[in-house]
Amino acid sequence: MRRHHEFHIGGCWRPAVSARRRIILDSSTEEPLAEIALAGTEDVESAVAAAVSALDDGWGRSDKRRRLAVLRRIIAGVEAKRELLAAVVSAEMGAPIAFARNHQVSAAVNHLRATLAAADAAEDDAPISPDRPRDRVRWEPMGVAALITPWNWPLNQIALKLGGAVAAGVTMVLKPSEIAPLSPLLLAEIVIEALAAEGAPDGVFNHLNGDGETGATLAAHPAVDVVSFTGSTTAGLSVAAAAARRLARTTLELGGKSPNLLFEDCDVDTAVRQGVAHCFRNTGQSCNAASRMLVARPIYAAAVAAARRAAEATVVGPPASETATLGPLVSERQWERVQAYIRSGVDEGATLVVGGPGKPDGLKKGFFARPTVFADVAPSMRIFREEIFGPVLVMAPFDDEDHAVTLANHGDYGLAAYVQTSDLHRADRVARRLQAGMVQVNGVSRAPGAPFGGRKLSGLGREGGLWGVRAFQEVKSISGAAAT
Ligand code: NDP
Repeated sequence: MRRHHEFHIGGCWRPAVSARRRIILDSSTEEPLAEIALAGTEDVESAVAAAVSALDDGWGRSDKRRRLAVLRRIIAGVEAKRELLAAVVSAEMGAPIAFARNHQVSAAVNHLRATLAAADAAEDDAPISPDRPRDRVRWEPMGVAALITPWNWPLNQIALKLGGAVAAGVTMVLKPSEIAPLSPLLLAEIVIEALAAEGAPDGVFNHLNGDGETGATLAAHPAVDVVSFTGSTTAGLSVAAAAARRLARTTLELGGKSPNLLFEDCDVDTAVRQGVAHCFRNTGQSCNAASRMLVARPIYAAAVAAARRAAEATVVGPPASETATLGPLVSERQWERVQAYIRSGVDEGATLVVGGPGKPDGLKKGFFARPTVFADVAPSMRIFREEIFGPVLVMAPFDDEDHAVTLANHGDYGLAAYVQTSDLHRADRVARRLQAGMVQVNGVSRAPGAPFGGRKLSGLGREGGLWGVRAFQEVKSISGAAAT
């Protein structure tokens, strides 16, 4: 078993001061994969001090072309290690290998590329208007950034932050999830090489392994100017509260319970098949999963039948299988949580269409759950409102457009929403009324560099493209001076 007891701080790998350790398990075999050290206060102090010193060393005033050269090298490094990264993601968090390769790793590369293109095209210092040539608006790096990321898309969530942070010119401390820290370690090595190749000062990028306690210490650190956090709403709220004490900026990408609205003029079979696949993608462990399917009453019975067929056709299997579409959940804790939600759906009177508690036949080892669909789910039920983060779809009928929007907007989350209809005017009308950061109509995916993020308890701020760069920059107005 490999042991990772060092952190990258100030340009070198240093032994952890903290004596806390954690074993990383393979989620399909429950066998140990590696052991990591969990950073404590002293490790966090050193990492933040290194980031402060790299800022003072001039990285905060560095040329954008140099920073984008670093980003290009990171992209090339990830491309070169695609297969290895996919294999490690697959082992540590259970994503089927084809999904890890074609989505987990590809999404990370695509985000980095979109950020590079957006940053390259952006003007960071320009007159406010043509008639005020010496009245300028400048975007400047905010200082030291803390990047705190979850396990469910371990590379992608880092890439969204890292691309923006590198392009913006902040120095950073990355703390990935302790549950899937191995692919982030590989990515860290790529970043370290890229920075070294461009002659960046030591301490621009620091990497700590750690748990929630490490993340909380980092988020509360007085020298951290911006905290970019992706994770649960509960942890996000405590990060925001800690940052608010010193008015540090936070970008929060949190949970979701995204509605998928199927109107009677959609192609029911296709919409349901794609909707179920979207909900079960990454074994349901995606913040933007289309986990609430709301269906026009005239097509509701047909949609429930189609959902049953789609769930039954899902291939659950070990992540190494090229044909599996659903792997295990990430951990025993996550498995127990999903089971509790399935039991609560049954207890609260929802109709169990397919799946249910327990493990799928033949998969007793590993954290596998059964693909599950509930129908007739009422807004009062926990499974209608709360994020399950597993392969569990809930369905409910609606009577008309107003009712659909009311049901969709019910609850605390507002991350994504999905609309299926052949009437694109209706799609636009409904999209405008949905309380969500992102609305996708008929499966048309967002353009590279589109803003990613949510409203309500789904978060604050946006990542992706130029939005993700500006999240690490402060705007300054300079009037009267000549641009240099
Ligand atoms: P957590 O909130 O448990 O963890 C997220 C990260 O924060 C991890 O690195 C974690 O460390 C750390 N952390 C935990 N507690 C604290 C704290 N009090 N202060 C600072 N850092 C802390 O989320 P999960 O890892 O369980 O991820 C799943 C959640 O992430 C889901 O709710 C999902 O919806 C959300 N998510 C949101 C996305 C979005 O863009 N909106 C995208 C992807 C996921 P550790 O894991 O080591 O304990």
